[in-house]
Amino acid sequence: MVIFRQFETLLKHLYFLKKTTNGLGFGFVPTMGALHEGHLSLIRASRRECGVTICSIFVNPAQFGDSNDLEEYPKPIEQDIELLVKNACDILFLPSVEEVYPVDYVNQCYDLNGLDLRFEGKSRPGHFQGVCNVIYRFLSLIKPDFAYFGQKDYQQTVVIKRLTEVAQLNTIIRVVPIVRESNGLAMSSRNIRLSASGRNKASFILEGLEILQKNFRVQGISKAIDLVSWHIASFEGAELDYLIVADSTSLKEVKDEEHTDLVALIAVNYEGVHLLDNMILSQ
Ligand code: AMP
Repeated sequence: MVIFRQFETLLKHLYFLKKTTNGLGFGFVPTMGALHEGHLSLIRASRRECGVTICSIFVNPAQFGDSNDLEEYPKPIEQDIELLVKNACDILFLPSVEEVYPVDYVNQCYDLNGLDLRFEGKSRPGHFQGVCNVIYRFLSLIKPDFAYFGQKDYQQTVVIKRLTEVAQLNTIIRVVPIVRESNGLAMSSRNIRLSASGRNKASFILEGLEILQKNFRVQGISKAIDLVSWHIASFEGAELDYLIVADSTSLKEVKDEEHTDLVALIAVNYEGVHLLDNMILSQ
């Protein structure tokens, strides 16, 4: 695996690869590091589809509201490099903050049609604009054929698709299924902040989504949401931040159970950790 820290050298290398290989697709996997199986599933999806896989590790200050959260974000870089090598990633891009946001960088505000203001955006103002700023920098310079994002952050995938439209980026966005721990908890770099027993019990989030899936057609969306709220509330210290049934493309809230293409989005605060999950609801 080759490591680059500057756009200039990375882009030179990619230019050389494009010229010397016969139309190999370039796949890009943006991450903030502290890699786990969820991230690695994106690397594998890229490797299946593309000739060259580029992973970036960049803890993006623009998407953190709270500077403590940013400072505390885990940065096990040696371990990450080892995992990427094991998973046959071709290129790691490891830029500094100054490289991504040079002094003359002007922060952009994208028209995300309100997608950035709902759900996760409510409690984290500016978060999705921060995500879009860094992803635009990466996609507009690297110009990968495909970029891979996890369904785990469902709202983010919808925001990124919208960004590619409004900013006229040519990269195709692929969404890769959620990878879960053995008890069903969606893998996340934040899970290490849970106690061992909390991490074990946190399977109640997926159980909640399963209760919703099982009941919403017969009992109605609103009653099914109540059932899930009671389930979550029965776990001490668990606080439901939101549980929404929405149209899977527009993310507009839906109250009518006859609507097709639904997604359920949930966020729970547990032991001081904000845990996200979601489920595409089947008919
Ligand atoms: P992060 O490093 O948290 O910014 O995540 C980088 C990418 O990995 C994002 O596209 C995430 O949605 C994705 N990801 C994180 N956790 C999972 C998971 N459990 N399953 C699938 N993808 C994931």
